[in-house]
Amino acid sequence: MSGGCLFCQIVEGAVPCDEVYSDDDFFAFRDINPQAPTHILIIPKKHIARINEAEAGDADLLGRMMLKANEIADSEGLSDDGFRYIINSGIDGGQSVYHIHLHICGGRQMMWPPG
Ligand code: 5GP
Ligand code: ZN
Repeated sequence: MSGGCLFCQIVEGAVPCDEVYSDDDFFAFRDINPQAPTHILIIPKKHIARINEAEAGDADLLGRMMLKANEIADSEGLSDDGFRYIINSGIDGGQSVYHIHLHICGGRQMMWPPG
């Protein structure tokens, strides 16, 4: 846990959420301000502030997070029509919560380029 981190507080149950999945390493929950019919955030329980602060020792964890996201996307019925994964980093990336999170968005046609 990192002091004051919103997503660490969500993992700990101190801040309520609509939980989708939890295991020893990962936690997934529905975004409070969904940008698509399905909008889930999956996070490592380990506090890492930004994706570019991940270290070599985090490679396995982050790789498994992608595979877990695939399982969640599938369980949400997104596999056939597709979905989008997003990780924002820093100010220009539009990151607003500094605990790595992978957005899983689906249920509508996504646009490109992103805003
Ligand atoms: P970012 O902009 O950092 O990539 O994404 C942060 C996401 O966290 C946003 O999509 C925002 O709606 C979501 N979010 C912020 N606060 C909360 C909260 O308290 N609960 C939930 N479930 N989502 C949150
Ligand atoms: Zn955190």
